[in-house]
Amino acid sequence: MLLTISTTHQPATDLGYLLHKNPTHLQTFSLNFGRAHVFYPEATVERCTAALLLDVDTIQMVRGKGKAISLDQYVNDRPYVASSFLSVAMAEVFSSALNGRCAQRPTLVTTALPLQAQLAAIPCRKGEDWLRRLFEPLGYHVEVVQHALDEKHPEWGQSPYFTVTLSAERRLSELLTHLYVLIPVLDNSKHYWIGDDEVDKLLRRGQGWLEKHPERVQIAFAYLHHKRTLVNDALERLIAEEVGVEEAEVEAEAEVLPTTEVEESTETVEIGAVPEIAMEKKLPNLHEQRLQAALEVLKEHGAKRVLDLGCGEGRLLKMLLQEKSFEHILGLDVSYKALEIAQKRLHLDRLPPRQRERITLIHGALTYRDKRLEGYDGAAVVEVIEHLDQSRLSAFARVLFEFAHPETVVITTPNAEYNVKYETLHAGTFRHQDHRFEWTREQFQSWAQQIARQFGYTVSFVPIGPEDAGVGAPSQMGIFARSSAIKEENA
Ligand code: SAH
Repeated sequence: MLLTISTTHQPATDLGYLLHKNPTHLQTFSLNFGRAHVFYPEATVERCTAALLLDVDTIQMVRGKGKAISLDQYVNDRPYVASSFLSVAMAEVFSSALNGRCAQRPTLVTTALPLQAQLAAIPCRKGEDWLRRLFEPLGYHVEVVQHALDEKHPEWGQSPYFTVTLSAERRLSELLTHLYVLIPVLDNSKHYWIGDDEVDKLLRRGQGWLEKHPERVQIAFAYLHHKRTLVNDALERLIAEEVGVEEAEVEAEAEVLPTTEVEESTETVEIGAVPEIAMEKKLPNLHEQRLQAALEVLKEHGAKRVLDLGCGEGRLLKMLLQEKSFEHILGLDVSYKALEIAQKRLHLDRLPPRQRERITLIHGALTYRDKRLEGYDGAAVVEVIEHLDQSRLSAFARVLFEFAHPETVVITTPNAEYNVKYETLHAGTFRHQDHRFEWTREQFQSWAQQIARQFGYTVSFVPIGPEDAGVGAPSQMGIFARSSAIKEENA
């Protein structure tokens, strides 16, 4: 199976930086279902093409399962067609590019480039029209060649296999994300286990486009392999406010889904990146100050059931756990890897049962509605919003303030004005490579005030860290209190 990605952006060989793969080398990666090779059939200043060749080992896959093996397990189309194996390979081999990270060419990550992707063979039993309905709404020019079952016997008709070429000006991470989600949607034989984790993966990767896609219901349906409960969950959590889709409409669509269930097989877990607080090492206590400040606010406001949203590796969770007044603590993060680290840091497996019951860790994305976040009275969102795309902040605000709706919310974020004090930080760059933006005090406050107005909260602001007369403190905190909660207190 071959996927090629080409660009004519100049110098085209920058594609190598974006993919984190040197154009002059052939590289081979071992995967649990075979091998992936990355190489560049062409690499000139004018045009560069990277190829991902997947070598799926069907024999290795069926052996060792301890089950009876039928011939079709050995003889099938898996090695030759784009399938969910390709998505898994992309997530492993191109993970930085998929997540939009490139330290050496940071501006290219956020730039739309002339890109072309070609899938040498993709099965699509629903035909060319379905291929177009998936990719054209995302702005791709789609070229499709359908292959005959056997070229020597045209009377046998067409096969369900297509060569597909997609062209558009896109960020590379967008192109890879669209392929990551839509390839398994085209292919019906999804190979890996479908569990709650798959809903999170779909929503996380679908962020910013899936909720607007006219075929989103069918995409969720196919991606989640027709598992009705998961599809309903996914649709419920898709917040399509940009196009004004009301929840009722989404629910109505969910009603018509068929109820087919599929057999479950092996699981693959996608591991996200573990972020670090990079620039701030000079102020070693700053992060602790933020965490302490967030904790104090939750405590002062009498919160008993608290959320740590974007909990990362669990530093705040650990502090919250030590504080008896917090009866239940829920940590959520989009990074599975970070959650694994949090789990170790908290020694969850060794906690006495009563302590263990106080804490829950969940994998999820803050830009999707999540019922598990309801019923809490306090929430901390420490150094997280700057990791979200600005276009998704309104979805985040609805998820937290409208649906989860805790009485108290604490949000901290860097104060961009303070960046001039970091000597090694060049103007216009951020403290951490995963930051999508950093705000001045004025920007944060005007966003926070607008959110407070919209959702019926009051907000006040507190600087965190050593304050400079001109540029303020390195970090800023917004404290939101639900207006009805204040009224109750005053009554
Ligand atoms: N709050 C932690 C971690 C901050 S780093 C602390 O203060 O120590 C930012 C965290 O936000 C990361 O762990 C990252 O995985 C998480 N994150 C980024 N985007 C997210 C999203 N859409 N939903 C949930 N978590 C997200």
